[in-house]
Amino acid sequence: MGRELNKKQIEEIKELLLKNKAIIEGNLNNLSNEHVNLSEMDLNDEGDFAAASRDYSTDIHIKKQQLEELRLIDHALRKIYSGKFTGLCEMCDSEITMKRLRVKPHAMYCIDCRNYLENEKQIKKAV
Ligand SMILES: [Zn+2]
Repeated sequence: MGRELNKKQIEEIKELLLKNKAIIEGNLNNLSNEHVNLSEMDLNDEGDFAAASRDYSTDIHIKKQQLEELRLIDHALRKIYSGKFTGLCEMCDSEITMKRLRVKPHAMYCIDCRNYLENEKQIKKAV
């Protein structure tokens, strides 16, 4: 069992989560706006179309990643608001260090468990 985060540390993580959430929501807005422009574009030239659809699939990929991150951020925020956020790994209850949480405030697992999960491919992309 690791040591749970104190109130001040949880507050810091909450701020980071809210900041990241705002950034991602901004990115997602930009992506959808670009898609509107893309579908309105007159793509008669084949070359243009290839270029446009390549961008489009990159956008879809980015969008998927961002949505997944947003889901994890919301998960962490829900835990904070319900007082269940401890900063401990959801698998083994050991500490996720503040250093790691500052880089990835929505991290659910300690490094060991994340590596384990990634190796086992039990979940596609552990955080
Ligand atoms: Zn763990």
